[in-house]
Amino acid sequence: MTQATRAAWEQRAADLMPETRAFIAGRYQPAASGATFDCISPIDGRSLGQVASCADADADAELAVVDARRTFESGVWSRLAPVKRKAVMIRFAALIEAHAEELALLETLDMGKPINDALNVDLPGAARAIRWYGEAIDKVYDEVATTAHDELGLVTREPVGVVAAIVPWNFPLVMACWKLGPALAAGNSVILKPSEKSPLTAIRLAQLALDAGLPAGVLNVLPGFGHTVGKALALHMDVDTLVFTGSTRIAKQLMVYAGESNMKRVWLEAGGKSPHIIFADTADLAAAAAAAASAIAFNQGEVCTAGSRLLVERSIKARFMPLLIEALGQWKPGHPLDPATRVGALVDRQQLETVLGYIQAGHDQGATLVAGGNRVLEDTGGVFVEPTVFDEVNNRMRIAQEEIFGPVLSVISFDTPEQAVQIANDSPFGLAAGVWTSDLSRAHLTAKALRAGSVWVNQYDGGDMTAPFGGFKQSGNGRDKSLHALDKYTELKATWIKL
Ligand code: NAD
Ligand code: MN
Repeated sequence: MTQATRAAWEQRAADLMPETRAFIAGRYQPAASGATFDCISPIDGRSLGQVASCADADADAELAVVDARRTFESGVWSRLAPVKRKAVMIRFAALIEAHAEELALLETLDMGKPINDALNVDLPGAARAIRWYGEAIDKVYDEVATTAHDELGLVTREPVGVVAAIVPWNFPLVMACWKLGPALAAGNSVILKPSEKSPLTAIRLAQLALDAGLPAGVLNVLPGFGHTVGKALALHMDVDTLVFTGSTRIAKQLMVYAGESNMKRVWLEAGGKSPHIIFADTADLAAAAAAAASAIAFNQGEVCTAGSRLLVERSIKARFMPLLIEALGQWKPGHPLDPATRVGALVDRQQLETVLGYIQAGHDQGATLVAGGNRVLEDTGGVFVEPTVFDEVNNRMRIAQEEIFGPVLSVISFDTPEQAVQIANDSPFGLAAGVWTSDLSRAHLTAKALRAGSVWVNQYDGGDMTAPFGGFKQSGNGRDKSLHALDKYTELKATWIKL
């Protein structure tokens, strides 16, 4: 794609005037109360604008839900032929691609990831999710049951109605599009609540959807805080389904809100503390080390599937650790608008404090720091932490049990395959896991024994839109991506006819 230099990106950033209002009923408007919050870039601490804070449950959430409901009931989208919804979704994906540079720049400025990743990972990922469900939706058939001769049993899928989608800041556009793709393709009306830490691309996306031909009111975007507008949506009596990506703590709270209100369906993609196991018989230890470095440093370690617990078989520890440290040398924090940068800024000061707090906890609980450990590039006004490795970690330590969501790796030794699996599964989370071995049976047996929604063998973080994605245990329920995601956005109906 672009060959733009840092200077060119900085010029474009200086000229940028991001849209900061909510998008309700097909147009941008301020929050009903007029309230805003300051959108601070973690790159340099500068303000990107005053974003509408849809804080008033009775006003903004109500407006959006009423509008989404009216649009849904009208059938303008929900009863449109799938082949026609497909055409809109594919145009929507193409518009995302046509605005890739603008959206990537917004993403980088808002949440600090390297521009090269925003442009080459996030943007194609977002467009692919929208296109994939557009392409799929007129190819998914309903069922006819195996009835007696004088009966006809139809098993059909219907859109659930009004969907609220609450998403996080680490891959703001991609996480939004993993929800929007299947939700919209299935015919629902959606209210998207981006994270208060990364609202800008979601706000921009709403206009692109409208331009693609999505009827006004089918997609509303409400920026604001979780405890205000997020909570209002989660407690709303006329939201049918709540889909979420974010922390396990908030995920649990959303289940309570659903129980306290209308028993809306709740689908949760939550946190992780994923084990990455390196067996002694790994064929290419350097490749494993490179994958282990990437698994903790990519996106500043702010990845739900980050391989944050590295389990290394003791007999190869002395050979493996220098390879790991060498590989990590490729991951140095730099200016996020420099196309060569691979590690950007953390999302904000609060996240910086969290990550530094965990580094302190690693020291306090007796782990051995072998790389990184410091805040860097402080003179930029941004919030950067160097990729950090603790060795001699015990799986009971806080840095092995709790999700840090930053570039901090905990290395744990093991002696037998059974012990590796036992340590790997000794976690409240079950999102993902990695296994390196050249023994086919060990690969399969370990993959089967791991309690995780995704298992990668001799690679880390593979998969595309065809692979379901989600967690076991406290990493969540349901799946994003693949046709399985449609389960979240459709109700099954049995219609039984006497002939
Ligand atoms: P978070 O839980 O703090 O916030 C997520 C969203 O929930 C935000 O939009 C926030 O405003 C909203 N929210 C907060 N409190 C709320 C409340 N009381 N009611 C309603 N909404 C509320 O998470 P985060 O810090 O934005 O994101 C990081 C987390 O997301 C990590 O735990 C990470 O593992 C997880 N994550 C999971 C996946 C996955 O697919 N499993 C993917 C990416 C990120
Ligand atoms: Mn931000």
